[in-house]
Amino acid sequence: MSELLSRHRAVMPSWLPLYYESPLEITGGSGSRVTGADGRTYLDFFAGIATNMLGYDVAEVREAVERQLAKGVVHTSTLYLIRSQVELAERIAELSGIPDAKVFFTNSGTEANETALLLATCARGSDEVLAMRGSYHGRSYGTIAVTGNRVWKNSSLSPLNVHYLHGTDQASPVFRGMSEKEYVEACVADLRDVLDTAAPNVACLIAEPVQGVNGFAMPPDGLYAAYKEVLDEHGILFVSDEVQTGWGRTGTSFFGIGNHGVVPDAMTFAKGLGNGFAVGGVVARGDLMDGLPAAGVATFGGNPVSMAAAGAVLDHVLEHDLQGNALRRGALILEGLRPLAELASVGDVRGKGLMFAVEMVDPVTGAPAPATAGRVLEAARERGLLIGKGGVHGNVLRMAPPLTLSEEEAAEGRDILLDAVRAVDAGV
Ligand code: PMP
Repeated sequence: MSELLSRHRAVMPSWLPLYYESPLEITGGSGSRVTGADGRTYLDFFAGIATNMLGYDVAEVREAVERQLAKGVVHTSTLYLIRSQVELAERIAELSGIPDAKVFFTNSGTEANETALLLATCARGSDEVLAMRGSYHGRSYGTIAVTGNRVWKNSSLSPLNVHYLHGTDQASPVFRGMSEKEYVEACVADLRDVLDTAAPNVACLIAEPVQGVNGFAMPPDGLYAAYKEVLDEHGILFVSDEVQTGWGRTGTSFFGIGNHGVVPDAMTFAKGLGNGFAVGGVVARGDLMDGLPAAGVATFGGNPVSMAAAGAVLDHVLEHDLQGNALRRGALILEGLRPLAELASVGDVRGKGLMFAVEMVDPVTGAPAPATAGRVLEAARERGLLIGKGGVHGNVLRMAPPLTLSEEEAAEGRDILLDAVRAVDAGV
């Protein structure tokens, strides 16, 4: 065991997941690559779980942060006017497409979702909330409550009364043999049933446009639009969690929910906007935002350093058409990976923009194979590529590279992945 790993084990919580049999310490980075304390350079197809959206050591972001640091003002609290905060809020409100939108900044996705839940439950005077099976929204009490992935449910104590909806479980035996259209109809019938029987007064639905932690599981086209229609009949609010899908990552829409043709009442964001700096937030209809009887979660959100970083990140995303880049690079990778679906140990290959996943299964039974996924993770690292894992069974390889990925890097990562999966498949 390395010296750092044994110190980590001694002083850090045992439940902190660490990737790899020999955990990696990242000591440097540039563009889409990081260097490790093991002396190797890796192409990073996970990018801090979609956080390093522009990759590493981005000059514009570094310079914007340095300019702010040079002013000597690192934090002033939300008690004072912060120009960069107001400017960024104006831009995000406009980009959101939500009418009369207002923005509240936080430090993380968890806080952003906590705030959105607070807005919705206060506005509707109800603690009943709808969430999706397989979802992930964070690790505070409220966000654990709406997380429908038991891997991350470390508390059953819920401040909310949550009802889970179907949407990414078409493979479940409950829906076996159904076409996509029939599945959507069954999901909508179930929503109506939930509203009629269990949940008379619901505040909101919170949902991810593509379920990130669940291995980029995708609700079928038309599902969220159909849900929205039913929700509108009851005045129930729609909160889109854009923590992984925001800022063009899906390639076809700046916010993931746009792919579903839904204008939500609120969206939450984090991760990528700071490219490593702590930024999160909620953008919501103004009446909803203003309806909170007291201040939102955290006095620290939107501090001037994070705002400087986020402003520079947003400039970069828009000026370099990174949404278009996500579409092109994502298509190149996904098309290349599709043949993997022929392998007996691969259950599915899917993706949208620069989010894509390969699901590993038992070649005989088709059951989820988390150990096989773990072997691919190691095999990819040996070959110089960092990827992630996910899914409710931990058997899905998931990739969310920087949106700045070049064509050559996309092809390189795709080829390493093909080789790693085939090598592991041959040994199963
Ligand atoms: N929502 C989604 C969809 C996420 O993927 C995550 C983090 N993986 C969160 C919320 C929580 O964000 P944070 O870790 O910044 O609290």
